[in-house]
Amino acid sequence: MLKKIMIARHHGFCMGVKRAINIAEETAQDKDRKVTILNEIVHNETVVQRFRDQGVGQAYSLDDVGEGTLIISAHGIAPHVIEDARAKGLDVIDATCPLVTRIYNIVMKVIENGYHVIHFGDPHHDETQGVVGHAPDKITVVTSKEELPNLPDWTDRKLGLTSQSTCNQNEVAEFQQLAKVKWPHIEIFDTICNATTQRQNAILDLAPQVNMVLVVGSKTSANSVRLAQISDAICGRGILISSAEDIRDEWFADEKIERVGVSAGASTPEFLVEAVIQRLVALSGGTAEVILPERRERIKNVASQAG
Ligand code: SF4
Repeated sequence: MLKKIMIARHHGFCMGVKRAINIAEETAQDKDRKVTILNEIVHNETVVQRFRDQGVGQAYSLDDVGEGTLIISAHGIAPHVIEDARAKGLDVIDATCPLVTRIYNIVMKVIENGYHVIHFGDPHHDETQGVVGHAPDKITVVTSKEELPNLPDWTDRKLGLTSQSTCNQNEVAEFQQLAKVKWPHIEIFDTICNATTQRQNAILDLAPQVNMVLVVGSKTSANSVRLAQISDAICGRGILISSAEDIRDEWFADEKIERVGVSAGASTPEFLVEAVIQRLVALSGGTAEVILPERRERIKNVASQAG
């Protein structure tokens, strides 16, 4: 029987996501011009759909945008895309997270100083494509430590190592160690963002205390996927759900499931997390405690709200 619902210390919207949504909402107020978001403003289907419902256009290629204002998503973009958009006569509003811009700045600075950059990340992710787009010939994307043996020795050049802002911090730490062995002269730059570190540390704290962790977030959200993977490795059940509707009653048929943790990726709105909590309380027959770890105390029993 589900008795406790424990909420991760850090979860949900990060600074970069809030900022991008605010910029997009403000820009969407302009009813005189067509406003289009290039790529998903943040990787959450509910947020994306809300902008669509407001009449904001959604495009995945500049070729599909003919006029008006173009919003660059929180994950950023290659600089030539912004140049091409301006050349087409579009007004460009850049909602790139400042911590992604920080990665661009690090990468460009070391490249100007003659370095080749190894970037640890997902080559298909918008953020990585934006980083690589800054200097395609000078950046090599590496996805896993297994690729290391096949990479050149690069004894002839200075090397820098960066990573996608939302990577698993333990995987990156391990990769950094192995890279240092292969290329003793490599210079390492920590580019995982604070929001990612906080949310992963909160999971490392929460997962050992529960029988299951539900992470609210979209499959396209790299940091949400990561939180579910980390939870799964620790407590044996880390499940990514996009909303309360994804929760299955049968997950709780096992009497041993007494404590469930709840977290959410950096692009997940809080109302989706609230709905998940309400659904879990209802599943417990209205008896489960909801515990916020900040204060380590029983904060409320939302049985009366479960309806
Ligand atoms: S996860 Fe980090 S890099 Fe990405 S938008 Fe949030 S703060 Fe910025």
